[in-house]
Amino acid sequence: MLKYRLRKRKIRKRKIKIKLKKEREILMLIFCRDKVFVKNKIYNFSENFLESKKIKILDTSKNLPEVWQNLPAWIDAEEIENLTPDEKFVTMRELLHMGDDTAMTVTSRAWQFRNWFRNVKFCSHCGGNLIPNENDYGRKCEKCGVTFYAPISPAVITAIEHDGKLLLAHNTAWEETRYSIIAGFVEPGERLEETVRREIREEVSVEVKNIKYFGSQTWPFPNSLMLGFTAEYESGEIKPDGVEISRAGFFSPDEIKNMNLPHHESIARKLIENFLATH
Ligand SMILES: [Zn+2]
Repeated sequence: MLKYRLRKRKIRKRKIKIKLKKEREILMLIFCRDKVFVKNKIYNFSENFLESKKIKILDTSKNLPEVWQNLPAWIDAEEIENLTPDEKFVTMRELLHMGDDTAMTVTSRAWQFRNWFRNVKFCSHCGGNLIPNENDYGRKCEKCGVTFYAPISPAVITAIEHDGKLLLAHNTAWEETRYSIIAGFVEPGERLEETVRREIREEVSVEVKNIKYFGSQTWPFPNSLMLGFTAEYESGEIKPDGVEISRAGFFSPDEIKNMNLPHHESIARKLIENFLATH
């Protein structure tokens, strides 16, 4: 750390004017426990704003090596005092429902790195300290040298079509009337297409074909990446697994329009809307 600070000071001397200007323009996200700070739909704040607030800081990305400064900057606050009525802390889900894609993408990135620093402080092999790398977003154990990276859990979600209808299912963890499409986590060693087939087979007992990539969405609950697919029904009779899925069936566009569906900001809803737009 001392070495890094000396190096940075040297650079700062050479580019003092540019550096000062740049530093004033830094926008930071403010996290506190399981929430993010928002003021009038703004989610990142200038250093001037931060100075005007009384914030007890636990950690900040500003102390990390230079390469890390390319990430959205964040502050992990213990508390912020003197909140005005338009200033509040929201959960990541509440931020998602604000419907601002940029806010969600930027915040999700900083959020997951911040959580990783907050939750993983030592090497899981030997208990040594983890030192942030100077050339990428990894952290290396100072004792045994193993490098760790922030965890990401990919999950697939698939819209299955059959005879102009879409397969929708009710998950036992959801509110009683909610329906959506089939999703599940990727397991080690699996190709995404295999995950799509396995999850659908496990949850509703049908086989699918013509699996096509649709798009992806960051899903920081806590660190997922949702990968959306479309597929066509091939064979089998729908049979919910009774554990995760309690009801499932193929529904027509007219039926779907009156159903309780996932929020508009989710890739699940985008896949359903994509089906409706093409049928
Ligand atoms: Zn170690």
